[in-house]
Amino acid sequence: MTPPATTEIIPATMPPGAILAIDQGTTSTRAILFDAEGRPLGLAQRELPQIYPQAGWVEHDPEEIWRATVAVMSGALAEAKRAVGDVAGIGITNQRETTVLWERRSGRPIHNAIVWQDRRGAAACRALVAAGHQPLIRQRTGLLVDSYFSATKIAWLLENVAGARQAAEHGELAFGTIDSFLLWRLTGGRVHATDATNASRTMLYDIGRGRWDPELLALFRIPESLLPEVRDSAGPFGESEPGLLGRSLPIAGIAGDQQAALVGQACFAPGMIKSTYGTGCFVLLNSGGTPVASRNRLVATIAYRLGGETCYASEGSIFVAGAAIQWLRDKLGIIRHASESAALAASVESTNGVYLVPGFTGLGAPYWDPDARGAILGLTRDSGAAEIARAALEAVCYQTRDLIEAMREDGATLPQALRVDGGMAANDWLLQFLADLLGIPVERPVVAETTALGAASLAALGLGLHRGPAEIERRWRRDRRFDPAMSADRRDALHAGWKRAVARTLSEPA
Ligand code: ADP
Repeated sequence: MTPPATTEIIPATMPPGAILAIDQGTTSTRAILFDAEGRPLGLAQRELPQIYPQAGWVEHDPEEIWRATVAVMSGALAEAKRAVGDVAGIGITNQRETTVLWERRSGRPIHNAIVWQDRRGAAACRALVAAGHQPLIRQRTGLLVDSYFSATKIAWLLENVAGARQAAEHGELAFGTIDSFLLWRLTGGRVHATDATNASRTMLYDIGRGRWDPELLALFRIPESLLPEVRDSAGPFGESEPGLLGRSLPIAGIAGDQQAALVGQACFAPGMIKSTYGTGCFVLLNSGGTPVASRNRLVATIAYRLGGETCYASEGSIFVAGAAIQWLRDKLGIIRHASESAALAASVESTNGVYLVPGFTGLGAPYWDPDARGAILGLTRDSGAAEIARAALEAVCYQTRDLIEAMREDGATLPQALRVDGGMAANDWLLQFLADLLGIPVERPVVAETTALGAASLAALGLGLHRGPAEIERRWRRDRRFDPAMSADRRDALHAGWKRAVARTLSEPA
């Protein structure tokens, strides 16, 4: 009997070439086993406790991250009912920028990991800007001076952990983002390396020349001996300790989470773009072989480095995306589940001029106003829960359009389509409005786990199981495409209303 064409049949005896992807995120550590075609076979996950030592500080316990990683690797194999012998190799993707320093001799971290969200470096960043260092840092690293990136976190650890600076100067300490820390542990301390995407988030890496920048290291007083070797995103990173899974496996692909999602979405051609809608939202546009110096406060970053060739991306972030839906649920109580937001939004023809600007923690690109605050504008006596829920979903779309317009002002052409993923991409109503507002099709892939898939795809490339990115593109499958159905006049009028609403929430009115 021939199975229906839409059913994915996964053979019981699997062809060789399964890849174990480790996805070490901010709130959880996951592992997913993918088969050679990029279909998920099994997943295991552990929540990651957040440590808040004081306001604005966020830490993770690196030992907990390590224990969870080991547990989810075997968990994913068990869930998939596969043996380690079925696995060709390991790929790693990770929360970016989060910083660990450890002793080379013992492998012991000297402090908790300082998480990307941690703001303890904010004063140091303000001082750098005041001292006129922003243009140099921006030109070398593609980033805006901000405490999200690793540099001020490393500097803080060297200044504040007893004996750290001296040990660093004697070459006794190692720095790593989470990928690098996991690689060190997986290889039993034999490999201290990272990939170019993770290096590009440290604020110490010259993304044009492809090297740690001596001037920036001096500026932050960071000894070069701390730093990992920077490698291609796909290729040999080392062999895992045999004791971990019962057999040694090659680690063959590494990328930071947003870059891994770009790869998982097969955005390999310049001009291709993906947007990930989770708690926040990250839009990455493939900008090819040259980093774009943005006039609109987007950052330039390394998308991936393959075969020694660096590909760049322009990146914009929205702080509050799904978090606004959580707010509707937890603070307003107008929905019980995030998924109810779609039906509520669809129950009215429009918001009738109501806009919700979710500037709960300030506004990100392209406004960059940390002191802006949220607002609901345009209320009338008829406005109710449906209008507000709809306005919250629409806000995610308006902000995406803001970012894409900023990218176009920086010289990009309008993309042919937007590929989406993340928890909110399950919301069909949202994706239709997004397509309407952008005036381009929005595409959702079959495999929603694009970040983990990207890490697995890089590992497959690194192992030579895929000959090139074209094979990843060939495996990318669309679940659904949303075509724009709104007139250009209407979409422009709605967006103009949004811009007026934003202007009224900025800390210094435009
Ligand atoms: P993260 O990786 O940032 O934790 P996820 O990708 O898991 O986030 O997405 C979770 C977010 O998506 C939550 O903020 C949730 O409110 C939102 N979300 C999930 N499903 C829907 C939905 N159907 N409609 C709107 N928002 C949703």
